[in-house]
Formats: sequence, C-alpha cells, structure tokens
Amino acid sequence: MNQEYFKILKEINSLEQNISTLETTNNNETARVSKLQDRRQLAQEELEQYKASLKDRRLLAQKNENELSSTDSKLAKIKADIGGSFDSKEMELLDREKQKLSIQLDELESAGFELLEQMEELEQLIKDKQTFIQGVGETIDEIQQEVDQLVNENQKQINSYQSRIDSSLTQLPENFVNTYQKLKTKNLSVSLFTKIQAGKCFVCKMGVDKTREAQVEDQLQLKTCSSCGRIFIPNQALF
Ligand SMILES: [Zn+2]
Repeated sequence: MNQEYFKILKEINSLEQNISTLETTNNNETARVSKLQDRRQLAQEELEQYKASLKDRRLLAQKNENELSSTDSKLAKIKADIGGSFDSKEMELLDREKQKLSIQLDELESAGFELLEQMEELEQLIKDKQTFIQGVGETIDEIQQEVDQLVNENQKQINSYQSRIDSSLTQLPENFVNTYQKLKTKNLSVSLFTKIQAGKCFVCKMGVDKTREAQVEDQLQLKTCSSCGRIFIPNQALF
C-alpha cells in the first residue's frame, strides 16, 4: 500500500538525519582529541629544538672554557717572563702582550657568563615545556577515554539505525528507492519532502496542476516537484 511506502520513506530519512547528527558529534569529539595531540606534537618539536640549542651552548661553553684556561696559562707565563726580564724593550713587548691577553680573558669570561645565562634560560624552557607536554598528555588520556566511549556508543546507535534503514529499504518498491537515493545526492536544504498546499509546492511555491495533484493525493503515486525536485508526500501519509 503506497501510503505505507511514504511513511517508510520519511522514517528512513529521519533515521539518516539521526545518523548524520551522530556522525557530526563523533567527528567533533575525535577532532578535540587530535587538536590536543597536535599541540603536544608541536610542543614536542619545540622541546627538541631547545634541547638541541642547549647541547650547542654546552659545546660552545666547553670550547670557551678551554680557551679561557689556555689564555690564563699564557698570561701566567708572561707574568713570570716579565718578572725574569731585565731588558726594558722586551719588558715593554711582554707588557703589551699581557694587556692583550687580559682583554681576551675578560672577553672570554663575559662570553662564558652569557652562555651560562642562555643555558639556564634553555633549561627552564625545557622544564616548562616538559611540564606542559605531561599536562597535555594527561588531559588526552582523560578525554580519550570519554571520547572513545561516546564515539563507540554513537557508532552502535548508527549501526542500529543503519540496519533499520537497510531493512526498510527492502520494503520499498524500486522507484521509491531510486527516486529517494537520487534526491539525496542533491543535498537539498530543509527537507527532501514537500506537500501540495493550495495547488502549490509547499517548499518552493511552484504551481502543481490538477492532474498531478490527483496522482499524488488520490492515487498515492510517487511524484516529485518539477521545480525543486522534492518528493510530494500525500496528505494522508503526512502523519
Ligand atoms: Zn518544489
């Protein structure tokens, strides 16, 4: 009986809308987790950069330390040489060398302090980043459980709706199924269905002639609006 077919069609459509809502929820929930995972990944990359910088600074500090100690020995040797020299010209030369080395030593020392400060700063950044990563990780673990559970439940619901749809589709004549499936690909807004009201399509207001109206309302034939393409649900199948 055709009246029943229209009801089945409407039921299928409403189940499909339910599925679509559940799928949107599942996508949003999954996106929540992956957003956090992205943030963790980014923080992880930043952490690696900080670590590489720290390693770099440590090598420079070591090199600086070596230069410092070699300059220091050179300076000590010059001081000893100055003490052992009696030639005023040689003493003058040695003194100039001493001045030069002292300046170098000062420069190396301040470079060493600067490196030390940079290393401390990097160590703090690393610590902060590690704390952040751990925090995000814990949040992900917490949310992941919730999300997995929700997504699972929704998926079960989707599967149950889908099997109802599948079995309903088998109860429909081929022209109902085909028209419906074809209409779905048009992504119509509001509804795939319409009704005839006062000789017009209720949705797009296109006029419907008497013959077609009788085919829909009296013979319960499957007809679509010639303008918007929506399926006419006969008045007696509306509720
Ligand atoms: Zn229409």
